[in-house]
Amino acid sequence: MLQAACIDNTLPRVALAPLSQTEDEAREALLALCWPDGTKRCPRCGTGGPYQLAGGRLRCGNCRYTFHDFTGRWLNETGLSPLKWLRLAQAFAAELSTREAAAQVGISYNTAFKALTVLRLAILAQGADARQLMGPGAPLFPILQGARAEEDHPYGTSLPVYGLLSRSQHIFVDLLPEITAESVLHFNHNFHLRVVRHGSILITDRYKTYDSLILCGDESLPYHYLLRHPGQIYAESGAYSFWDYTQPRLRQFKGLSWRRFPLYLKELAMRYNMRQKDLTPSLLAALCSFVPKFA
Ligand SMILES: [Zn+2]
Repeated sequence: MLQAACIDNTLPRVALAPLSQTEDEAREALLALCWPDGTKRCPRCGTGGPYQLAGGRLRCGNCRYTFHDFTGRWLNETGLSPLKWLRLAQAFAAELSTREAAAQVGISYNTAFKALTVLRLAILAQGADARQLMGPGAPLFPILQGARAEEDHPYGTSLPVYGLLSRSQHIFVDLLPEITAESVLHFNHNFHLRVVRHGSILITDRYKTYDSLILCGDESLPYHYLLRHPGQIYAESGAYSFWDYTQPRLRQFKGLSWRRFPLYLKELAMRYNMRQKDLTPSLLAALCSFVPKFA
């Protein structure tokens, strides 16, 4: 069943292309992305030309590591088959909700939610700041580790803050480690920085080179402490198409938390930066890349 009532009908909806691929065809398509030059390599030591074992397994001639084509890659993080991954990536590219995507692919809501989290992590891992966002101590580290991160201790005023920056029609989302929610409240009080609240999200006026600072709060954030200063913030002046694009979409995400917030911000930046293109090839390439190892 589709959760039509939860979908903002003002958003463009893209019809899914006919899904005619078989499981074998889907697997071939993903294998071509995993081994772009056709040479299979050991994920542990990088040696090419492993031995073929029974059951599709491979063994490295150098370090004896036994692996298979998808070992260590994002798409191996769930039990989805290649065809289901392909369909899920298409559903994600078409901006279907989690519930709609689950129905489209023929999987449970929980499986779809987990797989879409893997897809969002895979997108984020493509960025130069992946370690900052996913490494030890970073907001997404527990999610990457599969730990139950959602219920942990609230961060309060040390909540992470992101900067939005536009350069020649492209949007960049930067984690700003030197700025916390507390700094935003301080700038609001003492330097008249305009801040607008949308539910748990705070977005500010221009700050230094950034179009805006943005953060997702939790129940420990003292929202009542915010001061209203006269005038509009730049993001809501009508001249900032990224926020016009992002705000209705953020409202649709269920269970938005400060920890998962960078997943959605990075997703929306990618969607915005590629808004005239089909995202599916980029999503599949991200899924076929290796999960980074952060010591
Ligand atoms: Zn090896």
